[in-house]
Amino acid sequence: MRPVWAGHPWVFAQAVEHVDAGAEPGGEVLVVDPRGQPLGRALYAPRSAVVARLYTRRVDEPIDQALFQRKLERAVGLRRAVGLPGVEPGQETTGYRLLHGEGDGVPGLIVDVFGDVVCVQLGTLGLFRRAAAVCDALDAVVGPRSIVDRTPPGLARTEGFDPTGGVLRGEPVTELVFRELGLDFALPLELAQKTGYYFDQRPLRAALARVSRGSRVLDAFCYTGSMAITARRAGAREVWACDKSAAAIEVACRQAERNGGAEGIRFTVEDANLAFAAAAREGGCDVVVCDPPKLAPARGNRPRALGAYRSLAEGACRATARGGLLAFCSCSGAVGMHELERELALGARQAECEAFVVERLFQGPDHPVPAAFPEGLYLKVLLARIDAA
Ligand code: SAH
Repeated sequence: MRPVWAGHPWVFAQAVEHVDAGAEPGGEVLVVDPRGQPLGRALYAPRSAVVARLYTRRVDEPIDQALFQRKLERAVGLRRAVGLPGVEPGQETTGYRLLHGEGDGVPGLIVDVFGDVVCVQLGTLGLFRRAAAVCDALDAVVGPRSIVDRTPPGLARTEGFDPTGGVLRGEPVTELVFRELGLDFALPLELAQKTGYYFDQRPLRAALARVSRGSRVLDAFCYTGSMAITARRAGAREVWACDKSAAAIEVACRQAERNGGAEGIRFTVEDANLAFAAAAREGGCDVVVCDPPKLAPARGNRPRALGAYRSLAEGACRATARGGLLAFCSCSGAVGMHELERELALGARQAECEAFVVERLFQGPDHPVPAAFPEGLYLKVLLARIDAA
């Protein structure tokens, strides 16, 4: 119970001495330490390894609309303090994460803002049952045009419920329209990855805008093309953006059209490894972005995932011109910064070059990490200069 005492929101099954009769799946429970001191109120999930997730340390505060509203107001304050929404000319940002689950003291609850639409993920049975309270709180604090449920069906099933899916409140939504760092996006709702867009990589996009001028850029896992379009707008000479998903590439092309045209950007449906090999044959690119999907979804897949990061690093290093810059990313919480650095070093070795890390980036400030919950830092980016060994 020590981590929980320090503010960690999870209570693991093996740490529980007993559960009072009457505790129901998805219901509210009071968490009490072995000496009888109440630690806070949690939602109960007996089927999960994390049997209780704490929402409040105030032992008399129920987990209801008022609590969600309090957390939302706090989250709005945090975003404002870091410049979100962004209003600076050329940097307008109306798309960002407003509630980041554990990071904002609401385990399992994600809220992403896309202009006047919000998308939610209700990651537990307890939250699913409280969907109306969550929506009421959002109406009171944000007042969106529509609230859309984007809980991944697989996640819902493991938690023991059928997600509603689609619009929970407001007008029908077909597109998510928003701006990020001055770029203009309209993403079809059915392009379902996460809640629709990777807001967590905003810091890398800002970095790319600084380093891309005059360069040849390869964005090997481009999804909606946001990195590629950022690089081109920042003055990249040529950009090659690929993704193995044809649907993503089609959407990416349309985003380029919205932002000054696709001229100078080549979009292809392609496997990243083949793109790396092709770029290597042509002498390498000056800037390479390697942002794969999560390779270690859980701790158990870690050994295999580390090998996968190494071989990706090898390919990406070969695709980077000597003296060029590689952005090597991992969104696997189970893989730490030092492990990622090690795989980059070993991959570089296999590619007969050396990688010098010049900058480390993380998920942006709209994905906060409580000091008591360090595992919340899932996204790591190594910006490395690649040179001859
Ligand atoms: N950099 C993007 C997010 C990338 S998400 C952004 O900032 O928006 C990972 C992407 O990798 C997904 O779009 C997925 O379709 C794609 N992908 C997965 N495996 C791939 C592979 N082997 N080759 C190319 N793309 C792949």
